Amino acid sequence: MFDGTKNIYKVAFDATLEGVLLADFNAKIISVNKAIEPLLGYAVDEIIGKDLHIFIPKSLHKIHKKHYRAYFNNPDYLSIDNHRDVIGVRKDGTKIALELRLNLFEFQGAKYAKALITDITKRKEKEKALEQAKMKLEGKVIDNTKELKKLVLQLQKTNADLEEQILKKNEAENRVKKALLVERELSHLKTKFLSLASHEFRTPLSGILTSAILISKKIPEDQKKISKHVTTIKTMVNHLSNILDDFMSLEKLESGDIHYKFTHFEFNTLMDEIIKESKSLLKKGQTIQYKPCQKCPKIFQDRKIVKIILNNLLYNAIKYSPENSPVEISVETDEFVTIKIADKGIGIPVEDQKNIFKRFYRASNAIHLQGTGIGLNIVKANVEGLGGSIRFTSKENKGTTFIVKLPKNN
Ligand code: ADP
Repeated sequence: MFDGTKNIYKVAFDATLEGVLLADFNAKIISVNKAIEPLLGYAVDEIIGKDLHIFIPKSLHKIHKKHYRAYFNNPDYLSIDNHRDVIGVRKDGTKIALELRLNLFEFQGAKYAKALITDITKRKEKEKALEQAKMKLEGKVIDNTKELKKLVLQLQKTNADLEEQILKKNEAENRVKKALLVERELSHLKTKFLSLASHEFRTPLSGILTSAILISKKIPEDQKKISKHVTTIKTMVNHLSNILDDFMSLEKLESGDIHYKFTHFEFNTLMDEIIKESKSLLKKGQTIQYKPCQKCPKIFQDRKIVKIILNNLLYNAIKYSPENSPVEISVETDEFVTIKIADKGIGIPVEDQKNIFKRFYRASNAIHLQGTGIGLNIVKANVEGLGGSIRFTSKENKGTTFIVKLPKNN
């Protein structure tokens, strides 16, 4: 050991940043280092020989002394790392948070305690702030959790309400579906019945027509009146036949059992035929003003079906317009043939217009006139079946215009 050994221990002792305090079994302070002075406010000389409890609050003296003695007798008495946090009292009476690290040692047959003392006020403050922040956070978490629980409850309620609404909606939908099925079934039965009945009417009607034709051939020139009646019979029978045709095409359209027969034909010739045949239906003073298309080429369509379509529209124009009024027909072509049939009749009330193509639908202002509500339904289905389209404009008591567009080449 070199000469300065003792001195170097002393210097190292004083240079230790923590306060170092040595005390004997009776808690008498044997030695302290310099760091104790700023820590506890006592000068080194002043504190040596004093009871170490001078820097422990009086209220804790008794318990502290008990611990100190117990520690001397059994060093395991303290926690494993022999450290503990205590509240200390400085010379000026102010309190200070301290950490004590204790260990026992023997010197010349006697036991001593060495305490390393650190000021942990700042650490404690930080811990306190941290604890407060934690509590605040926990408070917030509790608040948020409460809020969340409230929200979950609300959501559960909304969910239950929604489920109930969906259930009600489903029930209503089911009711509507059932009603629709019943309606469809009824409509099907109606169509079937009409078709059956029409088949039955056809034979006697063609008998009547043939007889009327035969009678008209036998009428002498001077008996014009009889001839007029026979013409009426023929017209009425033709009209009835048209209705029966409608009834029968209904079932075909409904079952999808309709096969179009396309041929090339002169459109103008067909129009002439339609107009000629309709003349017997005209009311007193009614006229047909026809503007044919210029240089109308042959078209490739189902002639019979095109005739059914235009007959229907023209007969309606005549039926739903008054005496002395014109029915205007015009035809134009580009890649389509566009036929306009306009009358100055009763028109279709706005509230009925959206339903007018529905089967059996008749507008409120047409109920007092004869009709079945089938024609337009068949017309639309056929126009679309031939690749065309149909629309109309109408004003009540002013008139109606139907516009049919058919492809020239199907
Ligand atoms: P209906 O046998 O009743 O004439 P339609 O299917 O041909 O049957 O027509 C359906 C309904 O459309 C008619 O009842 C009528 O209310 C209305 N309608 C059709 N064409 C005309 C028209 N040119 N003017 C006024 N109303 C029309």
